[in-house]
Amino acid sequence: MTHAAGRQSIFITGAASGMGRETARLFNQKGWFVGAFDVDQAGLQALQAELGAENCLALALDVSSKSQYETAVSAFADATEGRMDILFNNAGIAMRGFFDEMPLEDQLRVVQVNLVGVMNGIYTALPLLKATPNALCFTTSSSSATMGMPLIAVYAATKHAVKGLTEALSNEFRRFDVRCADVLPGLIRTGMPSDDLLANAPAGGPFRVIEAIEVAETVWQAYSSDILHWFVPAELADLDKAAGNTPEILRDKLGKHMTV
Ligand code: NAD
Repeated sequence: MTHAAGRQSIFITGAASGMGRETARLFNQKGWFVGAFDVDQAGLQALQAELGAENCLALALDVSSKSQYETAVSAFADATEGRMDILFNNAGIAMRGFFDEMPLEDQLRVVQVNLVGVMNGIYTALPLLKATPNALCFTTSSSSATMGMPLIAVYAATKHAVKGLTEALSNEFRRFDVRCADVLPGLIRTGMPSDDLLANAPAGGPFRVIEAIEVAETVWQAYSSDILHWFVPAELADLDKAAGNTPEILRDKLGKHMTV
Protein backbone atom coordinates (compact mmCIF):
# COMPACT_ATOMS: atom_id res chain seq x y z
CA MET A 1 0.00 0.00 0.00
CA THR A 2 1.13 3.55 -0.74
CA HIS A 3 2.43 5.09 2.48
CA ALA A 4 3.91 8.46 3.39
CA ALA A 5 6.22 6.79 5.93
CA GLY A 6 6.74 9.94 7.97
CA ARG A 7 7.23 12.26 5.00
CA GLN A 8 5.46 15.60 4.81
CA SER A 9 2.38 15.44 2.64
CA ILE A 10 0.30 17.56 0.28
CA PHE A 11 -3.25 16.87 -0.93
CA ILE A 12 -3.72 18.39 -4.41
CA THR A 13 -6.96 18.71 -6.35
CA GLY A 14 -6.85 19.25 -10.09
CA ALA A 15 -3.53 17.36 -9.96
CA ALA A 16 -3.80 15.73 -13.39
CA SER A 17 -3.00 18.88 -15.34
CA GLY A 18 -1.52 22.37 -15.29
CA MET A 19 -0.61 23.99 -11.97
CA GLY A 20 -1.74 21.01 -9.91
CA ARG A 21 0.47 18.63 -11.84
CA GLU A 22 3.50 20.95 -11.67
CA THR A 23 2.96 21.31 -7.92
CA ALA A 24 2.81 17.52 -7.54
CA ARG A 25 6.08 17.21 -9.44
CA LEU A 26 7.82 19.93 -7.42
CA PHE A 27 6.79 18.59 -4.02
CA ASN A 28 7.78 15.09 -5.14
CA GLN A 29 11.24 16.43 -6.01
CA LYS A 30 11.41 18.01 -2.55
CA GLY A 31 10.77 14.60 -0.96
CA TRP A 32 7.14 15.11 0.01
CA PHE A 33 4.39 12.51 -0.25
CA VAL A 34 1.76 13.61 -2.79
CA GLY A 35 -1.96 12.89 -2.82
CA ALA A 36 -3.17 13.60 -6.37
CA PHE A 37 -6.91 13.98 -7.00
CA ASP A 38 -8.81 14.82 -10.15
CA VAL A 39 -11.75 13.81 -12.35
CA ASP A 40 -9.24 12.98 -15.10
CA GLN A 41 -8.23 9.41 -14.26
CA ALA A 42 -5.92 8.92 -17.25
CA GLY A 43 -4.02 12.08 -16.30
CA LEU A 44 -3.73 10.86 -12.71
CA GLN A 45 -2.37 7.49 -13.81
CA ALA A 46 0.29 9.17 -15.93
CA LEU A 47 1.29 11.38 -13.00
CA GLN A 48 1.45 8.45 -10.60
CA ALA A 49 3.59 6.48 -13.06
CA GLU A 50 5.95 9.45 -13.30
CA LEU A 51 6.24 10.06 -9.54
CA GLY A 52 6.21 6.40 -8.48
CA ALA A 53 3.32 4.66 -6.73
CA GLU A 54 5.24 4.65 -3.44
CA ASN A 55 5.38 8.47 -3.53
CA CYS A 56 1.95 9.30 -4.85
CA LEU A 57 -1.56 8.29 -3.93
CA ALA A 58 -3.75 8.98 -6.98
CA LEU A 59 -7.53 8.81 -6.75
CA ALA A 60 -10.49 9.99 -8.79
CA LEU A 61 -12.32 12.85 -7.06
CA ASP A 62 -15.00 15.25 -8.19
CA VAL A 63 -14.54 18.07 -5.68
CA SER A 64 -18.18 19.09 -5.96
CA SER A 65 -19.19 15.83 -4.24
CA LYS A 66 -18.89 15.90 -0.45
CA SER A 67 -19.14 12.10 -0.20
CA GLN A 68 -16.36 11.60 -2.78
CA TYR A 69 -14.28 14.11 -0.85
CA GLU A 70 -14.77 12.18 2.38
CA THR A 71 -13.58 8.99 0.68
CA ALA A 72 -10.53 10.76 -0.77
CA VAL A 73 -9.51 12.37 2.54
CA SER A 74 -9.99 9.08 4.35
CA ALA A 75 -7.69 7.28 1.85
CA PHE A 76 -5.13 10.07 2.25
CA ALA A 77 -5.36 9.84 6.06
CA ASP A 78 -4.73 6.09 5.88
CA ALA A 79 -1.53 6.76 3.93
CA THR A 80 -0.28 9.60 6.16
CA GLU A 81 -1.41 8.47 9.61
CA GLY A 82 -3.97 11.25 9.76
CA ARG A 83 -1.70 14.15 8.81
CA MET A 84 -1.83 16.73 6.02
CA ASP A 85 0.80 19.48 5.81
CA ILE A 86 -0.86 21.27 2.87
CA LEU A 87 -4.35 21.12 1.43
CA PHE A 88 -4.07 22.59 -2.07
CA ASN A 89 -7.59 23.44 -3.28
CA ASN A 90 -6.69 23.92 -6.90
CA ALA A 91 -9.28 22.20 -9.14
CA GLY A 92 -11.29 24.67 -11.17
CA ILE A 93 -13.23 25.16 -14.38
CA ALA A 94 -13.97 28.24 -16.46
CA MET A 95 -16.57 29.34 -18.98
CA ARG A 96 -16.13 32.28 -21.29
CA GLY A 97 -18.93 34.34 -22.79
CA PHE A 98 -21.63 36.84 -21.93
CA PHE A 99 -23.50 35.93 -18.74
CA ASP A 100 -26.89 36.19 -20.47
CA GLU A 101 -25.84 34.01 -23.41
CA MET A 102 -24.62 30.97 -21.42
CA PRO A 103 -26.98 28.40 -19.85
CA LEU A 104 -27.52 29.08 -16.16
CA GLU A 105 -27.04 25.37 -15.35
CA ASP A 106 -23.51 25.46 -16.81
CA GLN A 107 -22.68 28.56 -14.80
CA LEU A 108 -23.98 26.93 -11.62
CA ARG A 109 -21.58 24.07 -12.32
CA VAL A 110 -18.71 26.60 -12.18
CA VAL A 111 -19.93 27.59 -8.71
CA GLN A 112 -20.18 23.94 -7.66
CA VAL A 113 -16.60 23.17 -8.65
CA ASN A 114 -14.80 26.44 -7.88
CA LEU A 115 -16.55 27.45 -4.67
CA VAL A 116 -18.50 24.50 -3.25
CA GLY A 117 -15.57 22.21 -4.14
CA VAL A 118 -13.22 24.37 -2.08
CA MET A 119 -15.67 24.43 0.85
CA ASN A 120 -16.03 20.63 0.66
CA GLY A 121 -12.27 20.31 0.74
CA ILE A 122 -11.64 22.60 3.68
CA TYR A 123 -14.50 21.17 5.71
CA THR A 124 -13.51 17.56 5.08
CA ALA A 125 -9.75 17.94 5.46
CA LEU A 126 -9.77 20.24 8.49
CA PRO A 127 -9.35 17.43 11.08
CA LEU A 128 -6.11 16.39 9.34
CA LEU A 129 -4.85 19.98 9.08
CA LYS A 130 -5.58 20.50 12.78
CA ALA A 131 -3.63 17.36 13.62
CA THR A 132 -0.56 18.60 11.71
CA PRO A 133 1.78 21.26 13.12
CA ASN A 134 2.24 24.30 10.85
CA ALA A 135 -0.37 23.10 8.33
CA LEU A 136 -1.38 25.31 5.41
CA CYS A 137 -4.74 25.52 3.66
CA PHE A 138 -3.90 26.95 0.24
CA THR A 139 -6.38 27.78 -2.52
CA THR A 140 -6.10 28.81 -6.15
CA SER A 141 -8.00 32.03 -6.64
CA SER A 142 -7.32 34.16 -9.73
CA SER A 143 -6.37 37.60 -10.97
CA SER A 144 -10.07 37.87 -11.82
CA ALA A 145 -10.58 38.17 -8.04
CA THR A 146 -8.95 41.61 -8.12
CA MET A 147 -11.77 43.12 -10.25
CA GLY A 148 -14.79 41.28 -11.67
CA MET A 149 -13.83 40.63 -15.29
CA PRO A 150 -16.30 40.75 -18.16
CA LEU A 151 -16.91 37.49 -20.10
CA ILE A 152 -15.87 35.39 -17.13
CA ALA A 153 -18.33 36.93 -14.68
CA VAL A 154 -19.35 33.85 -12.72
CA TYR A 155 -15.83 32.45 -12.74
CA ALA A 156 -14.57 35.78 -11.36
CA ALA A 157 -17.34 35.74 -8.75
CA THR A 158 -16.25 32.29 -7.51
CA LYS A 159 -12.63 33.44 -7.34
CA HIS A 160 -13.63 36.53 -5.33
CA ALA A 161 -15.54 34.15 -3.06
CA VAL A 162 -12.60 31.84 -2.38
CA LYS A 163 -10.36 34.86 -1.77
CA GLY A 164 -12.83 36.13 0.82
CA LEU A 165 -13.16 32.67 2.32
CA THR A 166 -9.38 32.47 2.67
CA GLU A 167 -9.22 35.86 4.40
CA ALA A 168 -11.97 34.97 6.86
CA LEU A 169 -10.69 31.47 7.63
CA SER A 170 -7.11 32.69 8.03
CA ASN A 171 -8.41 34.35 11.18
CA GLU A 172 -10.87 31.67 12.28
CA PHE A 173 -8.31 28.88 11.96
CA ARG A 174 -5.82 30.66 14.22
CA ARG A 175 -7.72 28.68 16.89
CA PHE A 176 -6.15 25.55 15.42
CA ASP A 177 -2.80 26.97 14.35
CA VAL A 178 -3.75 26.29 10.70
CA ARG A 179 -2.67 28.97 8.19
CA CYS A 180 -4.75 29.94 5.15
CA ALA A 181 -3.48 31.64 2.01
CA ASP A 182 -4.21 31.78 -1.71
CA VAL A 183 -2.64 32.47 -5.06
CA LEU A 184 -3.99 34.88 -7.67
CA PRO A 185 -2.45 33.80 -10.98
CA GLY A 186 -2.64 35.88 -14.14
CA LEU A 187 -2.46 34.02 -17.45
CA ILE A 188 -0.80 30.64 -16.96
CA ARG A 189 0.04 28.16 -19.72
CA THR A 190 -2.13 25.17 -18.69
CA GLY A 191 -5.06 23.23 -20.08
CA MET A 192 -7.40 26.08 -19.11
CA PRO A 193 -6.80 29.13 -21.35
CA SER A 194 -7.62 28.61 -25.02
CA ASP A 195 -4.77 28.44 -27.54
CA ASP A 196 -6.14 31.66 -28.98
CA LEU A 197 -5.94 33.49 -25.66
CA LEU A 198 -2.37 32.30 -25.12
CA ALA A 199 -1.33 33.19 -28.67
CA ASN A 200 -2.74 36.71 -28.38
CA ALA A 201 -1.40 37.44 -24.91
CA PRO A 202 0.76 40.56 -24.48
CA ALA A 203 4.52 39.99 -24.49
CA GLY A 204 4.96 41.90 -21.22
CA GLY A 205 2.99 43.19 -18.24
CA PRO A 206 0.84 41.39 -15.68
CA PHE A 207 -1.04 39.36 -18.30
CA ARG A 208 1.97 37.94 -20.13
CA VAL A 209 2.01 34.14 -20.34
CA ILE A 210 3.54 32.52 -17.25
CA GLU A 211 4.60 28.88 -16.94
CA ALA A 212 2.74 26.64 -14.47
CA ILE A 213 5.95 25.85 -12.59
CA GLU A 214 5.93 29.44 -11.25
CA VAL A 215 2.67 28.76 -9.47
CA ALA A 216 4.07 25.49 -8.10
CA GLU A 217 7.08 27.39 -6.76
CA THR A 218 4.69 29.85 -5.13
CA VAL A 219 2.95 27.02 -3.27
CA TRP A 220 6.37 25.91 -2.06
CA GLN A 221 7.25 29.42 -0.82
CA ALA A 222 3.84 29.86 0.78
CA TYR A 223 4.45 26.88 3.03
CA SER A 224 7.25 28.76 4.80
CA SER A 225 5.46 32.09 4.94
CA ASP A 226 2.65 34.01 6.57
CA ILE A 227 1.69 35.93 3.40
CA LEU A 228 -2.04 35.86 2.72
CA HIS A 229 -2.30 36.58 -1.04
CA TRP A 230 0.31 35.56 -3.61
CA PHE A 231 0.24 37.28 -6.99
CA VAL A 232 1.78 35.50 -10.00
CA PRO A 233 3.31 37.55 -11.52
CA ALA A 234 3.95 39.94 -8.63
CA GLU A 235 2.84 43.06 -10.62
CA LEU A 236 -0.75 41.84 -10.34
CA ALA A 237 -0.70 43.30 -6.84
CA ASP A 238 -0.87 46.74 -8.52
CA LEU A 239 -4.10 45.73 -10.24
CA ASP A 240 -5.48 44.68 -6.87
CA LYS A 241 -4.63 48.11 -5.46
CA ALA A 242 -6.13 49.89 -8.48
CA ALA A 243 -9.33 47.87 -8.08
CA GLY A 244 -9.52 48.94 -4.45
CA ASN A 245 -8.69 52.60 -5.04
CA THR A 246 -10.43 53.46 -8.32
CA PRO A 247 -12.71 50.61 -9.45
CA GLU A 248 -14.54 52.83 -11.96
CA ILE A 249 -11.34 53.59 -13.89
CA LEU A 250 -10.39 49.91 -13.98
CA ARG A 251 -13.96 48.92 -14.94
CA ASP A 252 -13.95 51.28 -17.91
CA LYS A 253 -10.52 50.07 -19.01
CA LEU A 254 -11.58 46.41 -18.90
CA GLY A 255 -14.78 47.25 -20.76
CA LYS A 256 -12.75 48.33 -23.78
CA HIS A 257 -11.32 44.83 -24.27
CA MET A 258 -14.39 42.64 -24.53
CA THR A 259 -13.97 40.03 -27.23
CA VAL A 260 -15.49 36.59 -26.79
P1 NAD B 1 -6.10 22.83 -16.02
O1 NAD B 1 -7.36 22.74 -16.79
O2 NAD B 1 -4.82 22.49 -16.68
O3 NAD B 1 -6.21 22.00 -14.67
C1 NAD B 1 -7.41 21.94 -13.92
C2 NAD B 1 -7.61 20.51 -13.43
O4 NAD B 1 -8.79 20.47 -12.62
C3 NAD B 1 -7.83 19.51 -14.58
O5 NAD B 1 -6.97 18.39 -14.44
C4 NAD B 1 -9.28 19.09 -14.40
O6 NAD B 1 -9.54 17.74 -14.80
C5 NAD B 1 -9.47 19.27 -12.92
N1 NAD B 1 -10.88 19.38 -12.54
C6 NAD B 1 -11.87 20.05 -13.21
N2 NAD B 1 -13.04 19.86 -12.57
C7 NAD B 1 -12.78 19.08 -11.49
C8 NAD B 1 -13.59 18.56 -10.45
N3 NAD B 1 -14.92 18.77 -10.42
N4 NAD B 1 -13.01 17.81 -9.49
C9 NAD B 1 -11.67 17.56 -9.54
N5 NAD B 1 -10.86 18.00 -10.51
C10 NAD B 1 -11.42 18.76 -11.47
O7 NAD B 1 -6.06 24.35 -15.54
P2 NAD B 1 -5.16 25.13 -14.45
O8 NAD B 1 -4.93 26.45 -15.04
O9 NAD B 1 -4.00 24.33 -14.00
O10 NAD B 1 -6.22 25.30 -13.29
C11 NAD B 1 -5.87 25.21 -11.92
C12 NAD B 1 -6.54 26.33 -11.16
O11 NAD B 1 -5.98 27.58 -11.57
C13 NAD B 1 -8.04 26.48 -11.39
O12 NAD B 1 -8.68 26.71 -10.15
C14 NAD B 1 -8.15 27.72 -12.26
O13 NAD B 1 -9.38 28.36 -12.10
C15 NAD B 1 -7.00 28.53 -11.74
N6 NAD B 1 -6.48 29.61 -12.58
C16 NAD B 1 -5.98 29.36 -13.82
C17 NAD B 1 -5.41 30.39 -14.57
C18 NAD B 1 -4.79 30.15 -15.92
O14 NAD B 1 -4.49 31.13 -16.63
N7 NAD B 1 -4.50 28.91 -16.31
C19 NAD B 1 -5.39 31.70 -14.05
C20 NAD B 1 -5.93 31.93 -12.79
C21 NAD B 1 -6.46 30.87 -12.05
